Amino acid sequence: MDSLGIYFLLLIAVIAGWILGRLSAPKSSTTVQETKDIFADYFVGLNYLLNDEPDEAIDTFIKALEINSDTVETHLALGALLRRRGKVDKAIKVHQALLARPGLDKLFSDSTRLQLAIDYISAGLLDRAERLLKEILEEGSSVKWDALKHLITIYQTEKEWVKAIECSSQLLTSSNHKRDNEIRAAAAHNCCELTEQLLRDNQNAKAKEQIKKAFAFDRKNVRASLLLAQIEQRLGNFKAAIKELVRIRTNNPEFISQVLGPLAECYEQIQNMPEYEKLLTNTLPEEPDVSVVLALSDLVKHRAGDEAAIEFLNNYLTRKPSLTGLVELLKLQIPRADAAVSSNLNLLQQMIDKLVRKKPAYQCNHCGYESRSLYWLCPSCQKWDKIKPILEAGGA
Ligand SMILES: [Zn+2]
Repeated sequence: MDSLGIYFLLLIAVIAGWILGRLSAPKSSTTVQETKDIFADYFVGLNYLLNDEPDEAIDTFIKALEINSDTVETHLALGALLRRRGKVDKAIKVHQALLARPGLDKLFSDSTRLQLAIDYISAGLLDRAERLLKEILEEGSSVKWDALKHLITIYQTEKEWVKAIECSSQLLTSSNHKRDNEIRAAAAHNCCELTEQLLRDNQNAKAKEQIKKAFAFDRKNVRASLLLAQIEQRLGNFKAAIKELVRIRTNNPEFISQVLGPLAECYEQIQNMPEYEKLLTNTLPEEPDVSVVLALSDLVKHRAGDEAAIEFLNNYLTRKPSLTGLVELLKLQIPRADAAVSSNLNLLQQMIDKLVRKKPAYQCNHCGYESRSLYWLCPSCQKWDKIKPILEAGGA
């Protein structure tokens, strides 16, 4: 039944287009004949529709909608509608038919070419889309900013990060997009992609330069800070790495769980674990993430033994109950319990552990996509920086 909607919308579009065309057309002897033709087309289209032949119905309706200066916008809307409903080949036909019309106004011609490029992207014909968008860009047309946005999509899909960054830089020169955080975030992540490539080839200095570029787009980008800390760590600049990791804790506290591992490694390298423990203890009252509690309990265990860690966890869990915290507490308590209780506690710990591991750890705050791993680009809505760690709330 859902697809019926599109045919009725097509019908309305055809009728609206025809009325618009008639209103502006001079009365002539041919008008009556054209009216007859158009209604004949409607009935043929309806017949196809009723016989459940939707493709033929769409073709007939499109044919019935005469292209003239008054119906161009209707055709554009129709093309976009067909594409959204997955009829990309039909959308391409509509837009190509529009472009073939001689004397098409420049503004409409640009809009139509842009729509055709989007059709090509939807159909996976990225080379064709790129050629068309570049043409629009070179002509300096009024839709060039939209063309840049779609070129970024293409280059990101093809992992051509340098080209994607160039397009973002160009787009950010426009007064309308200068403060567009989504474009800035995308450009920063594109720089991070290049940084990761350079790090794989051990080109630390060049990787550091790339991170500077990422920060020029978005200074609060968590991934860029994590990569910078990683580079500093590789270069043996542990204090600089700690500074960058602490910056993440301040600017993006929800990402604290990503910071704890490298932070512990850096403090170990400079042999200053008490300072690390102090940092975590100071973080604890304002930090809702249970990973800080677990890291701290581990530090207490190594410094003062199991008993002290059990006491610390007990105190914390009484105030803020947490399943992950309980698993950790059971791990510490099981070896101390007698054999019968220990076996039951062991079973309980395994069950809770299984339950916790099944839960998603990250969620996209744009489309709701959930996962166990952290993705910087949401695989579902294709937006950067929207996936955040799910903080374990009290009682979870
Ligand atoms: Zn998403």
